[in-house]
Amino acid sequence: MLKFDCKKCGKCCESFGNLGNCLPLFEWEVDELKSIAQKEGLILDIKPFIFWLDKKSGFAFTIQYGLFNEPCPFLKNKSCSIYENRPLICRQFPLLRTPFFQDDRKLNSPYFLRCENFNNKAFLAQLLDTSKDNKMKRSEWEPKYKETYGKCYEFCLQTDFILKSMLIFLEKINGRLKLKTSFEPDFNKYAIIPFFEFLVKINVLNSTQREEYIALFKDKDLLFKTFGVSI
Ligand code: SF4
Ligand code: SF4
Repeated sequence: MLKFDCKKCGKCCESFGNLGNCLPLFEWEVDELKSIAQKEGLILDIKPFIFWLDKKSGFAFTIQYGLFNEPCPFLKNKSCSIYENRPLICRQFPLLRTPFFQDDRKLNSPYFLRCENFNNKAFLAQLLDTSKDNKMKRSEWEPKYKETYGKCYEFCLQTDFILKSMLIFLEKINGRLKLKTSFEPDFNKYAIIPFFEFLVKINVLNSTQREEYIALFKDKDLLFKTFGVSI
């Protein structure tokens, strides 16, 4: 079986074109990166990347932020200078999604980024069973993902879990809000805040619960216990 083998060429840190021209970050990762950057005198261009506007409360809440510096300011001599503290997206690359939370278990090439040491077609062919219309049970696809991507697969599961949790919150609160998406919001009208802070503002969570959720998302051991996998 083909295995993904990172050659540490640094190319995926030079440009984020396939990811929307930025490196997607969760709110707690923004805080961590800003703190490191401040100590090192680096200037980060971080802006809301995926967000919703709530006309009712007047908040724009951010699901994910984006680091828009290219190349990444933490790339030094073709390697990551904050390797131990790098964000989840960097840990899971080049795998962007798993089928874990997809009801129809369909995956196709947009879920994978180009990487010089990674042939999309060959990897996809071994991960997907087209004779079953790409519908596979977890017991069928998971061993293939694990074997092909190793830890990248497990970090990708963690991202899927966080995004799915946010989606569940969004579904729960949707009836209470006047939500709309916008690519060019009038930020003068909306106060931009992180998603979990927004949940506190609208009394869905209290501050302690917010901290507990964020701790859960950051705690890899706890998360992997939830999934029944360990790293
Ligand atoms: S993931 Fe691919 S592009 Fe990125 S450093 Fe590894 S080999 Fe290079
Ligand atoms: S944080 Fe590190 S791994 Fe992530 S894009 Fe920047 S240099 Fe690359």
